[in-house]
Amino acid sequence: MTVHRQTISILGATGSIGLSTLDILAQHQDKYQVYALTAFSQLDALLHLCRRFRPRYVVLANPQHDGIAAFKHQLASEAIDTVVLIGADALELVASDDEVDTVVAAIVGAAGLPSSLAAAAAGKKILLANKESLVMAGALFMQTVRDHQATLLPIDSEHNAIFQCLPQSSSSPQLAVDLQQVKRLILTASGGPFRQKTLQEMSSVSVAEAVAHPNWSMGKKISIDSATMMNKGLELIEACWLFGLDPDSIDIVVHPESVIHSMVQFVDGSTLAQMGNPDMRTPIANALAWPNRISVAVPDLSLTDIAKLHFEQPDYQRFPNLSLAAQAFKCGGAAPAILNACNEVAVDAFLQDGISFTQIAQLNAHLLDSLAMQTDVPQFSDLEGLMAIDSQVRQTATQIIQDQSLWS
Ligand code: NAD
Ligand code: MG
Repeated sequence: MTVHRQTISILGATGSIGLSTLDILAQHQDKYQVYALTAFSQLDALLHLCRRFRPRYVVLANPQHDGIAAFKHQLASEAIDTVVLIGADALELVASDDEVDTVVAAIVGAAGLPSSLAAAAAGKKILLANKESLVMAGALFMQTVRDHQATLLPIDSEHNAIFQCLPQSSSSPQLAVDLQQVKRLILTASGGPFRQKTLQEMSSVSVAEAVAHPNWSMGKKISIDSATMMNKGLELIEACWLFGLDPDSIDIVVHPESVIHSMVQFVDGSTLAQMGNPDMRTPIANALAWPNRISVAVPDLSLTDIAKLHFEQPDYQRFPNLSLAAQAFKCGGAAPAILNACNEVAVDAFLQDGISFTQIAQLNAHLLDSLAMQTDVPQFSDLEGLMAIDSQVRQTATQIIQDQSLWS
């Protein structure tokens, strides 16, 4: 008897989450089969993955990439019969194809939203790393999941930790919190590389210092977001949508060792925590195998080696992005999407040496205030409307950076 292997599309296969996922799949080829892999620019890395995993499809999301012809030629010359699809629309195809069981949504940024939404609309099992999908379009995304009976499993480590601590039935993953049982959620944050720096010191940090996360190895964008603590702000919004809460029911606690990945506080005084070494393969494996468990080659957690765990309040003065995210969620409508788009432009500008580290939060505060808090909050009813707002905000943010008008 042949056992059905789960077919998997990995959107953002060449990134940090994509590669961690593939590392697990390589250990469990009896259970999982790679159906499609996608990448934006790292075609050499993608070619290597094609050799190793022989997917049915690859998507080269950037149609302007000058290596496309050589990529196709190389596949043909090695007799690899993977079908090559070009352009962003093809991401939605491999996210919704009838033959796909599971979609790992691991593209970075707003670019990941259309394909994760397509996976939801096709009723797939979605392993969600792309937190921007929920930040930008939480109501639309969750409604699409419900309407099409998609199975949503968080792999962001904090949200996966909370998911593991919540009571579960084994038939469908339980995300919405039962307020008869749960009092609060506690999101832990490492505090990033600048946890102990003053604002003055942070104003002159380099890109290399900002991407050097003390505990996690991740893509550049999320590493900068961890340093500004915008990552925790985005995760607050992500948690609100996933678990059906508002920001007042979620505490953020800085925990520099990144051993406790988050906690759930119950009404009877119990607090459950999920612990593990900071390695994304653990939450990814948890979601892949749910409701079962599969082995992963991560080192065992040794609490006696770590010896001490520390906890402190976040500093909202030095890390203003934390409050901006809570404000954006409370404003509703497109406010979180506006904050997200502005932050993506600001992080990009910082990475290109166009603005300083502390100017990221200043730009975010300015645009959230002027586009969402001083005027009626822009609303949207579908993906097209949302992407129009996203692109407008990007233009405005880019203009402000070019003119340096906010700082002169
Ligand atoms: P990364 O930068 O390492 O990889 C991003 C992937 O997306 C790459 O495969 C890249 O080719 C692809 N991509 C980039 N721009 C694209 C575009 N415009 N269109 C299509 N594809 C594009 O990022 P990452 O660190 O793996 O993060 C991916 C997502 O997972 C992010 O949303 C991040 O917030 C989330 N996440 C990451 C981690 C982590 O440990 N890295 C942890 C939790 C959540
Ligand atoms: Mg996280």
